[in-house]
Amino acid sequence: MVQASHAETRRDLLVTAEVLTPVMAELMEGVGNVRSLTPRGSEAHLTGLTVRQARALKEAKVIISPDPDLAPGLKKHLAARMRDGAVVIYLTKLSAADALPYRSHNPFLNLESLSGAPDEHDHGHDHGDGHKKEKKKSTKAKPEMMDPHLWLDPLRMAALLPELAEILSQIWPEAAPSLRANATRIARHLREEVHPGITHILEEAQMRNRDDSTAIPFMTYHDAYHYFQRRYGLSLGFITQRPEEYLGAKTMQQLLAKAKVSQVRCLISERETAAVKRFAKLSQAQIKPLNSDRSYDAKEVPLSPWAKNDYDRLLLAVAKTFAECL
Ligand SMILES: [Zn+2]
Repeated sequence: MVQASHAETRRDLLVTAEVLTPVMAELMEGVGNVRSLTPRGSEAHLTGLTVRQARALKEAKVIISPDPDLAPGLKKHLAARMRDGAVVIYLTKLSAADALPYRSHNPFLNLESLSGAPDEHDHGHDHGDGHKKEKKKSTKAKPEMMDPHLWLDPLRMAALLPELAEILSQIWPEAAPSLRANATRIARHLREEVHPGITHILEEAQMRNRDDSTAIPFMTYHDAYHYFQRRYGLSLGFITQRPEEYLGAKTMQQLLAKAKVSQVRCLISERETAAVKRFAKLSQAQIKPLNSDRSYDAKEVPLSPWAKNDYDRLLLAVAKTFAECL
């Protein structure tokens, strides 16, 4: 403890997405306070701010946010805070995070040829190489958005924590030893306990014999699981790109046509919208409720030796849900 400076140094961290709070609280252990801009269970893709939230943002000097585009309602507020001298740290901008763009096509529609051409929007993007294609003048090219759901990959979180600790250490130099030690401890827990724990759950599920072995194991309604699926070798389709985007009528038609001739085991979705119900009915899928964008508490998931906080419990809920569908 540095006695000389504690009176004038309040170390407060504001987190814009509640799902990150448990990890950030551990990173700040013995260092300072962590507040979440949003209450538990609330939508991470904020479209607007309450008066209280606007005030909290205005008072915050150090802010952590997954990505500038995660919450359209936050974007300009965060930019304004930066201009006023606050430190805004976006996790997707950390090099250790190795962030990826949102997926640009729907693998479900590519599984076999479908009558009718795919939407031009879904076509021609060779993603995965990290390079932007040259802009085509003939089509409306959308700016490439980064996928903010980094927290669904525990190894990415483990990798970015030391980098984050270094940035915070520049703001609060006297807390550097605690920040570094905390980052190392959490990263080790994620690598040595959480990641093997998830791997085990999924491997066990894959060894099971299924009667409906030809069924498509899962579809996800929210395209949040790219990092998780890549990390754990789970391929397959999503049916919307981002919650703030509505599906075009043509894509929806294609999806429903495809659903009619497919058997899907699970439709993983945080909400039972009309589209979700329709898709599930046509493809005989069971709707599995899961929200990738919030933490889970101990009442919501079974006990596990490695799930020690509400972030770990989200990962456990995700692993269990996918495992039920494999
Ligand atoms: Zn999301």
